[in-house]
Parts: sequence; C-alpha cells; structure tokens
Amino acid sequence: MELTRYSVIEDKNPREIVLLRGRGCAWKRCRFCDYHLDASRNEQENLSINRAALAQVTGRFGRLEAINSGSFAELEESTITEIERVCQDKGIRDLHIESHWIFRKTLAALRARFAAQGVTLHVKIGVETFDADYRERVLDKGIDETDPAKIAADFDDCCLLFGLAGQTADSMKHDIETGLRYFDRVCVNIMVPNTTPILPDDAARAAFVRDVYPLYRDNPRVDILLENTDFGVGEVK
Ligand code: SF4
Repeated sequence: MELTRYSVIEDKNPREIVLLRGRGCAWKRCRFCDYHLDASRNEQENLSINRAALAQVTGRFGRLEAINSGSFAELEESTITEIERVCQDKGIRDLHIESHWIFRKTLAALRARFAAQGVTLHVKIGVETFDADYRERVLDKGIDETDPAKIAADFDDCCLLFGLAGQTADSMKHDIETGLRYFDRVCVNIMVPNTTPILPDDAARAAFVRDVYPLYRDNPRVDILLENTDFGVGEVK
C-alpha cells in the first residue's frame, strides 16, 4: 500500500504535515487501531522514505506536523536529525508531534532539544475519551491516569475518537469541553471501518454529525476529521 506522506492543511492552524515511518508503535494494543502496521525495523529504508516526505516541506507557514503512526520517540535518531535539518533550512518554528502516554517522561528533554534550535514543540496525545473506564476497558488505550489535568500535564494537544458504540451527543460534547479546558487544541477523529473488530457505530456517528459537529466546526482550536485521511496523509483515495 502506497501511502501519501506529505500534505498541506490550509484552514485551521495552517501547517504542512508529513507522515513518517519509524520502528513501530511500542504499545500496539489500542483495539481500534491498525495503522501501527506502517512500521519497519530497517532504519535506512525508514530514513529514505522520511527524507522523501521531508524534502517536500517548503516552510510556507513556519509550522510543520510530523506524525508517524505511533510516537515520535519511535523515530530513529537519523530521522530526527533530518527533521531538525529541515526545521532549520525551511524556517520551521513550530513542530507538532504525537506521543503515547508511556513516553511522557521523554518529552521534557525533547522540548529542550528543539527549543535550543528555536523550535517550539507541540505534543499531541491520543486520549480518545476522558471516560477512563471506557477508554481502558473497551479501547485498551494504556493511560493509567483518570484526572484530565494530570493527563494534560506533559502534553499540549489531545486526540479524541468518536463514533463508537455507547457514545452519545452529550458524552462527546463533554469530551470536547474537557479537552478544551486542559489542552491548547483538540483533534476529533471519527471511527471508520478498518481491520480491527471495533466497528463504527452509526447512531453515535449520526449524533455527532447532527448535534456536536455544528457546535465546533468553526472553532479554531478544534480539528475534526470525519475521514481519517482528512489531513491529506495516509491511504488517500
Ligand atoms: S492508536 Fe497509537 S498508541 Fe494506540 S496502537 Fe495505534 S499507533 Fe499505537
């Protein structure tokens, strides 16, 4: 499967985005996820794929999102060096990355490393829902903390996952409001069919589109991906 690895997000928080490949998600247990399959232990092949994606970055917004179907900590040092070079060459001053909860203790050093080069890191964590019981018992997300303030302590932005069985308009609104209270930005993903046994729930998706989406569609702090390729990277058709 050929993946699209570079795109431009023009509307909210304009930025370029690259989908890089690393050694693979260290957690791999989230029950809804199959994109951790985009991984390899071959550092040279990863570097060559990542160089090709990063070579397309122009720096037009001074802002880049670098994601990798897992956590930034799973990128090899050779790729991180390449990201740093592109940030310098293209005048990137804000770099958005993703990280699982288990790597939260690595983030302070990473922020300092990029700050020394004039680049501010914005780290996004996949929370999916602040309903900790659902998140851990149903989704197996791997966040052993229930307090949203403590979850947010090492992170800037969060991802939420909607369109799942049992979710209601009220529960989804509550999740977004909680995200907005503790994080700079919230990214809402809507569940789409994939190779996992977790299926999108039509009623929950309809409730989101009807009762929740209109409330946040124009909120500059909320990204909403009705399809998981709406940022233009991944299996774009
Ligand atoms: S959602 Fe992220 S942390 Fe969870 S298995 Fe997938 S890649 Fe790993």
